[in-house]
Amino acid sequence: MSKAAYVRREVAKGQTRPHHCHALECKKQVPPAYFMCPKHWRLVPDRLQAAVWRHYNPGQEKGEASVSSEYLDVTDEAIRAVAEAEGKTPAAKTPAKQVTLDDLTPSDRAEIEKFTGYLKRLPAARAAGPDAVKALYAEVYAKGSL
Ligand SMILES: [Zn+2]
Repeated sequence: MSKAAYVRREVAKGQTRPHHCHALECKKQVPPAYFMCPKHWRLVPDRLQAAVWRHYNPGQEKGEASVSSEYLDVTDEAIRAVAEAEGKTPAAKTPAKQVTLDDLTPSDRAEIEKFTGYLKRLPAARAAGPDAVKALYAEVYAKGSL
């Protein structure tokens, strides 16, 4: 079955679960096999429409196929192109925020410090043999919330 035939078949099933258009600020409900509502899809430049099709794996919207990083890249570009066409400013693509110790609650920090303590003891346990490693793990799992 071609990708287009697959998508037609899926779309014929209708709104099988809540899923909205991926254009910036658009909350229009569309079948999960649709990336955008028809109004916004028409604003995606041909080159990007073709790239979205090329990198779409049928079933990925249902977790039945993997989503490639290429797909994520081209859909991100398509979302930006539509936002630009509508005069909207998409948020800058920022790398995931680095979490620092300052972002953590005192109890998170205590957990991490405790776990770090176990990690520091791991090489010595490894050197001592499998029983020492097993004992260390038993200690971690008995005391921690890992
Ligand atoms: Zn839309």
